[in-house]
Amino acid sequence: MAAVSTTAQDEAVEICRDLVRIDSVNRGNGDGNERAAAEYVAAKLAEVGLEPTLLESAPGRTSVITRIEGSDPQRPPLLIHGHLDVVPADPADWRVHPFSGEIVDGSLWGRGAVDMKDMDAMTLAVVRDLLRSGRRPPRDLVLAFVADEEAGGTLGARWLVDNHPQLFADCTEAISEVGGFSYTVSDDLRLYLIETAQKGIAWMKLTVTGRAGHGSMTSDDNAVTALCEAIVRLGRHRFPIVLTPTVRTFLDSVGEALGIEVDADDLETTIAKLGPIARMIGATIRNTANPTQLNAGEKVNVVPGEATAHVDGRFLPGQEEEFLRQIDELIGPAVRRDWVVFDQALETGFDGPLVDAMAGALKAEDPAARAVPYMLSGGTDAKSFSRLGIRCFGFSPLLLPPDLDFAGMFHGVDERVPVESLRFGVRVLDRFLAAS
Ligand SMILES: [Zn+2]
Repeated sequence: MAAVSTTAQDEAVEICRDLVRIDSVNRGNGDGNERAAAEYVAAKLAEVGLEPTLLESAPGRTSVITRIEGSDPQRPPLLIHGHLDVVPADPADWRVHPFSGEIVDGSLWGRGAVDMKDMDAMTLAVVRDLLRSGRRPPRDLVLAFVADEEAGGTLGARWLVDNHPQLFADCTEAISEVGGFSYTVSDDLRLYLIETAQKGIAWMKLTVTGRAGHGSMTSDDNAVTALCEAIVRLGRHRFPIVLTPTVRTFLDSVGEALGIEVDADDLETTIAKLGPIARMIGATIRNTANPTQLNAGEKVNVVPGEATAHVDGRFLPGQEEEFLRQIDELIGPAVRRDWVVFDQALETGFDGPLVDAMAGALKAEDPAARAVPYMLSGGTDAKSFSRLGIRCFGFSPLLLPPDLDFAGMFHGVDERVPVESLRFGVRVLDRFLAAS
């Protein structure tokens, strides 16, 4: 098979730059606009003979879907999905303007550079190269560039799955963001973290009602006090450690790679040795519940009749019921709990031909590569696509410099991706597709 061209590698950088320059900020609550980015993507696909479909869930909330015929029509298609929206960025905080797509110090800077216009661009570049050179992937590919991931996908992936499931109906596997990036152990060993699991989302609103009254009088039924007691119990609680198969395999692999003993009784110490990814991995050994918003009262001398709080809860695969039981026990019967967002946790095995294709493609481009499974503490559009029975992986391959705080790039200030990482990603994706 002919290798991917240098043109494709150049193109990934150009496309990523173009996409960063297109403002597709998603402020949540329906305030976003992906149309310009979607039209740009559709034009890039049309240029190589594809006939992409643009679908709008609401004005400006555009997603692009296309299908590429593989050489074996008997095989089920592979889905590659990427979101087109980005979170806001305040130029005042940045070293370069977040929508400039400037290349400084060998990196392409801007909002979306790693989340996830990089993967959108790499996918486009690889597919364009494939079609231009007359090659065919072994199986059909479904490409989905979608709106609204940063607000939970209600107007993007979730909407597509609910309203146009036939577009994905026969897809069995998918790749997308937050996986496939390197973690350097030494010059001759780099772990590439493939996402095979992600925590569930349980965003909740807690409400306590009490007796409203004058702030000067005794108040034994104060909603603010009762809510705060519940919030303190929840926020201070350390949920028990539960290792799912993904996290167990990950910790064993890391322990072996670093030559450290993984102490089951003191996992925090082991995880702390992981440096920049410690915060992300640390959240995958237990359920978590972080209080994030408080609201009550309007005036200092009025006891309000109601107090509310929002809590960002995340639960491990298989822990949904246990988590709810723990939460309810902590907040107590006087607190009402309502879901703001509730979405499933995911976990799939680190095995099978597709995993072999990922590991093989990485190894071919980086002899020091060792692919390992890991769990994402956040959530992605994979939650929506997995409702269709699709096995979802995070695989957006990047060879990263060892000192880059990659986890901090996501939604962070000075988000950037090394140009060489993009070029590497194109080469790996091309090999992966050929072997998939
Ligand atoms: Zn993302």
